[in-house]
Amino acid sequence: MNNFEKYVNSWFLSRYYNLKRTFYLQIHLTNSCQNQCAHCYFNELTSKKYEINYDKLIELINYCNRLSKKNRKLFRVDFTGGDPLLYSSIFQLCEYCISNSIDYGFKLNPDLIVLDWEKYEHILLNATDITLSLDGMKEFHDLNRKEGSFNLTLKALETLKNHNVCIRINYTISKKNTFDLTNLILFLLRCNFIIDDFTWARYWSKENKQDILNPLELYQVFDEQTKLMNYLFDCEDFYYKTNDYRVIPKIMFGFKEHQWFAYLANKKILSQETIYFLNNEKNSVNCTGTKNIFIVDNNLFIYNCRKINQDSFKIEKKELMTNGANKLLVPLLCNKCIYLNSCGGCPAINDIFPYIHDDDCCFYRRKE
Ligand code: SF4
Ligand code: SF4
Repeated sequence: MNNFEKYVNSWFLSRYYNLKRTFYLQIHLTNSCQNQCAHCYFNELTSKKYEINYDKLIELINYCNRLSKKNRKLFRVDFTGGDPLLYSSIFQLCEYCISNSIDYGFKLNPDLIVLDWEKYEHILLNATDITLSLDGMKEFHDLNRKEGSFNLTLKALETLKNHNVCIRINYTISKKNTFDLTNLILFLLRCNFIIDDFTWARYWSKENKQDILNPLELYQVFDEQTKLMNYLFDCEDFYYKTNDYRVIPKIMFGFKEHQWFAYLANKKILSQETIYFLNNEKNSVNCTGTKNIFIVDNNLFIYNCRKINQDSFKIEKKELMTNGANKLLVPLLCNKCIYLNSCGGCPAINDIFPYIHDDDCCFYRRKE
């Protein structure tokens, strides 16, 4: 196996074991935000301004914390928004987590990290990790978010890294910014940024379906990214030494887009052992809606997936840790695919493109 193949195989196996032992809530504290991103699903899901009720949230967090302990899971929450730092009780909430040893992370905008570091420093440095978004290079990113947002994000990255914070970057990929993905990765490397998790996921929109990558375009992105990573993993200067003397990639790539698994399996980049194991383990690394991973909306409704949020996908508190997952729609053709447990398609994408898997570019294999 070459360096890239070793990395990919171990990434999928660690993802499986991490997902298995985790009980995770992604909590939308507020939908107040400095930006109005073109791709934000909030634009489609709600137009009202909301904040989560603090007392009820603490009640839910305590309930889930107890439930995790009882089931021997690692409990972890992520605060998101809008910008979670705009939530009126953010300090009280984080202090509560710190004093009760509850791991929390943030998915946020860079603005307040850069403009008001001293005010937020304590709660930011106590976070397990922080996720920022980049949508492309400066021109596209600023067009999509707002003027100056790209430079603010780089500044936030620099500030957080100077304090050894674990950083995740998400890239939402659509027809409009496919061209910038490789440019951005090479740019981050040239600037010597350390990214602890870099993932991209397909843009999802009911209103702007025309911007969603079709299977052929998705396949081309897999091809281009695979070629790039194969090259990078063989370059000496792609690695650095951590404080505890491990030598690891400067950018730790993640493969959360589901069809990565099927793609990498077909290209024989994943080993037969990994493929066999993950294909046969029920819901191993497929849709996170099949795991103990839940989205809590700012009205405290709980969902398997924030995109498919019709009432039928709502989870009651008592259903948490039981089966929540089984409520998700599995795309019809995925039901017959050998990759059901490891890919399973994305029911949210399938919800708006019921026939997307009929395209030749989906690598599904029927069991019969
Ligand atoms: S048919 Fe579904 S499970 Fe199979 S590779 Fe395609 S998207 Fe994935
Ligand atoms: S349905 Fe799609 S977007 Fe929703 S959790 Fe599953 S994979 Fe993610």
